Amino acid sequence: MKSLNKQDCDVLIVKCINLVKKQDSNFFVLKKLKKVWGMCYWDWIELDPRKNFIVTAIHECLHYLNPDWSESMVMYAESRIINQVEFLKLMEFVSILSSKLYIKEKNKKRNKKK
Ligand SMILES: [Zn+2]
Repeated sequence: MKSLNKQDCDVLIVKCINLVKKQDSNFFVLKKLKKVWGMCYWDWIELDPRKNFIVTAIHECLHYLNPDWSESMVMYAESRIINQVEFLKLMEFVSILSSKLYIKEKNKKRNKKK
C-alpha cells in the first residue's frame, strides 16, 4: 500500500471537491442504509446522513475516483485526508455537497405537495 503525505491528501480532497461540483444532485442519494454507511454504485453514490456524513462522503468519492483501490487503501486515504487536510478544504467539500442535497430534498418535498 502506498503512503500518502499531506500534499497527496490535498490533491485527493481537491479531486473530491471537483467530483461533487461536476456531478448533478442525482448522483448523490441520501438513504437510511442497513449495516453500511455509504455505497458507491459507479453511476451514483448512496450516503446515510445519520452516519458520519463527512467521512463517509469522502470515502465513497475515493472509491469512485480510484476504482482500482482496495477497501483498506480507501479507508487509509479517508483517514489521512480527515487528519491532514485543513478544515477549510473539508468544509468546502461538505458545503458544496450539502447545498446540492439540500436543494434536491427541498424540491422533492415541493413536488410531493403538488
Ligand atoms: Zn468502502
